[in-house]
Amino acid sequence: MSHSHTTRVQQFIGDPVSDNPPVDREELKEIFKDIQSDIRYDHELNGCLNCGICTATCPAAHYYDFSPREIVQLLWTENLEGIYDAMQEKIWACAQCYTCAARCPFGNSPGGLIMLMRETAIKHGMESAKNVLRPFSRVMLKLISTGNQLSPDMITADGFADWGPNVSKIDAPLDVLRKAIPLPTLHTTKTAWEVNLKTSVELYTIWEETGVLDQLETIDENLFDVILDIMDEKREDLEDWNDEQDD
Ligand code: SF4
Ligand code: SF4
Repeated sequence: MSHSHTTRVQQFIGDPVSDNPPVDREELKEIFKDIQSDIRYDHELNGCLNCGICTATCPAAHYYDFSPREIVQLLWTENLEGIYDAMQEKIWACAQCYTCAARCPFGNSPGGLIMLMRETAIKHGMESAKNVLRPFSRVMLKLISTGNQLSPDMITADGFADWGPNVSKIDAPLDVLRKAIPLPTLHTTKTAWEVNLKTSVELYTIWEETGVLDQLETIDENLFDVILDIMDEKREDLEDWNDEQDD
C-alpha cells in the first residue's frame, strides 16, 4: 500500500494569492548560496541561541510583524523556503539601526544578515525589492548621478506631505536662502553641494566597479537608462574640459 509523504522540504514554493509561478528548489538554493557566500556572512552569523534578545530590543519588531530572531533562525537552520518567504516582505521592515548586533550574546548581526538578504533580493530582481525601491527612484537618480542624496529643491511640501505643515517654511526663496550660507559650494539648489565634474566621473567608475549599476538595471531598467545617459554626458563634458586645458 502506498502512502503519500509530506516532508518539510518542499519541491516548489508558491504564493496562493499571486499569479507568479512557483519557485523551484534550485532557485531557492541559488538564493541561499548568494547570501551565504558573501564574505560578511560568517562574521555576522556565529550561531543562535534563539534567545530573542535581538527581537526584544528591535524597534521595527514593535511596529511590524517582524522578528530578527526569526530571520536569524531561518538562516541558521538553512530553511530555504522560510528564507525566501521572509524576503518577500519581512526583511524590508528592518530599520538598519543595529541595536540587535550590539545586544546579541553570540555576536551575531541580524541587521547585517538582513542587509545581505536585501542585496540578494535585488540581485535576483525580486518583486519585493522592486516594490520597496520604486518610491525612491528620484532619490536614487540624484544619488547615483550626483553623489548627493537629497537636494534642497526636493524638499517641498508636495514631496514630503508626511513631514507635516512646517515643511512649507523652507518652501521660501530657496536660492536666496542658499546663497546666505558662507560656503560657496553650498550655493546650489539642484544638489546639496556642488560636485566637481571629475569627482562625478570618478563616482560613476565606483558605481560600475562595485556592481551598483548592474543591480539598478535588474530592478529598474528605465532609471538605469536615464542614469547611463547622464553619465555619458558628464564624461563627455569632462573630456571637453580636459581638451580645453591642453589647448
Ligand atoms: S540575540 Fe542572537 S542568539 Fe539571541 S535570538 Fe537573536 S540572533 Fe539568536
Ligand atoms: S538592525 Fe534591524 S533587526 Fe536589528 S534592531 Fe535594528 S531594526 Fe531590528
